[in-house]
Amino acid sequence: MVVVSDNLLNINQEIKQACERVGRQQEEINIVAVTKYVSNERAEEAVASGVKHLGESRAEGLLEKREAITGAATWHFIGQLQSRKVKDVIHECDYLHSLDRISLAKEIQKRYKGDGTVKCFVQVNVSGEESKSGLTPEGVMSFIEQLQAYDAIEVVGLMTMAPYESVPEDTRPHFKKLKELQQEIVKREFAHAPCHELSMGMSNDYTVAIEEGATFIRVGSRLVGDERSNLA
Ligand SMILES: *Cc1c(COP(=O)(O)O)cnc(C)c1O
Repeated sequence: MVVVSDNLLNINQEIKQACERVGRQQEEINIVAVTKYVSNERAEEAVASGVKHLGESRAEGLLEKREAITGAATWHFIGQLQSRKVKDVIHECDYLHSLDRISLAKEIQKRYKGDGTVKCFVQVNVSGEESKSGLTPEGVMSFIEQLQAYDAIEVVGLMTMAPYESVPEDTRPHFKKLKELQQEIVKREFAHAPCHELSMGMSNDYTVAIEEGATFIRVGSRLVGDERSNLA
């Protein structure tokens, strides 16, 4: 496998170019290295290479990596979260990217023992693909309004997964739509939902997502690889 630092160099170069195309600052983009398909050693290599954010999509994976990684990192839970796993996950991650239903908000409210808030992205299924979770675009605003009742939750942004497209450009309308929804929420100036962040873009489409306003990109195979298939 290619060393992580070489992949990171290439990705940073592409981020820089994408930012230049649309007049953004490279510092606005946070790279979350998605380590769900790689070993603890590979995740540690990513941190040693300068990656500051790590993302896991299963509770077991998050707990295992947190235990093993010695370097400093900000932790992201990016996968679908079952209510019964809430108590294991919310104190072990800095950001939850997959808040997608009120029953989950209820469970977070009940289980959270910290003295701040759980920083959440509300997940939106912009494309309407059946295989993907998330709110419908039409349902997002009323969902955000309902979250006011849960003071353990802070909505820091919106998250989406675009469908895989062999031509990455084809993902653009989904990212544009998420940005529009985010701006509508920002306008409302909710105390519980500042919603300044956009978690969108993966290995295949992060440059398009950046052009459309992503502040967190979630990159797995292109950055750390996939040890199940020797990608990257
Ligand atoms: C696996 C995963 C990613 C990373 O996917 P790659 O295509 O390997 O970059 C990003 N976001 C979520 C929610 C994922 O589950």
